[in-house]
Amino acid sequence: MADKVPQSARIADGFYLISFGFVAMYVFDAGDCLIAFDAGMRPATLLAEFAKLGLDPSRVRHVFLTHSDMDHTGGLSALANAQVYLSRDELPMVTRKVARFFTFIFNKPLAAGYQTLGDGEERSVGNARIRSLTTPGHTPGSMSFLINEKLLIAGDILNLDKGKAVMDRAMINMNKIQRKDSIRKIARLSGISLLCTMHSGFTADFPGAMKDWQE
Ligand SMILES: [Zn+2]
Repeated sequence: MADKVPQSARIADGFYLISFGFVAMYVFDAGDCLIAFDAGMRPATLLAEFAKLGLDPSRVRHVFLTHSDMDHTGGLSALANAQVYLSRDELPMVTRKVARFFTFIFNKPLAAGYQTLGDGEERSVGNARIRSLTTPGHTPGSMSFLINEKLLIAGDILNLDKGKAVMDRAMINMNKIQRKDSIRKIARLSGISLLCTMHSGFTADFPGAMKDWQE
């Protein structure tokens, strides 16, 4: 059993976890605007949780998606001022070319205007530098993001179980072997102050969380 998603809260300086119960999104205050990582499940929940923390959703100018599953994209319509980014490798998932489950259940197409990212690409927004890391396995275009080389948004590539990185819920992974490689890729990072997951909270003990995945 993975760790629980905590309540919405400011979890570091200018950095927020927004809880949707079983899934979370994260928000970074870049000074002149807000940057979101995923959009949670429902627009109404997003608006209510932003209000609790005194965050203005119209200040969100950029949304980086870890992948296209609906529990991560469902709140997008509440962030109408934002540019959306996702991995180039996720395109088949949002254009109904590759099914998510079985052969006939597809992820929802995204509204036009999104930008795609490749491995290691960087975007500077206000006081934030966002670096993308391809971490496929859960979906073909699953992506993790580093904020200022310190805050790591892992996406669904791993979850925490008593603070340790685990590969749970194997059933909904599209490629388990890729996912293991992606977790090892994460484990090679250093200098991470917070490791953030979408379904199991976050930890400040990155080395402890990744110990079993080091080669
Ligand atoms: Zn998910």
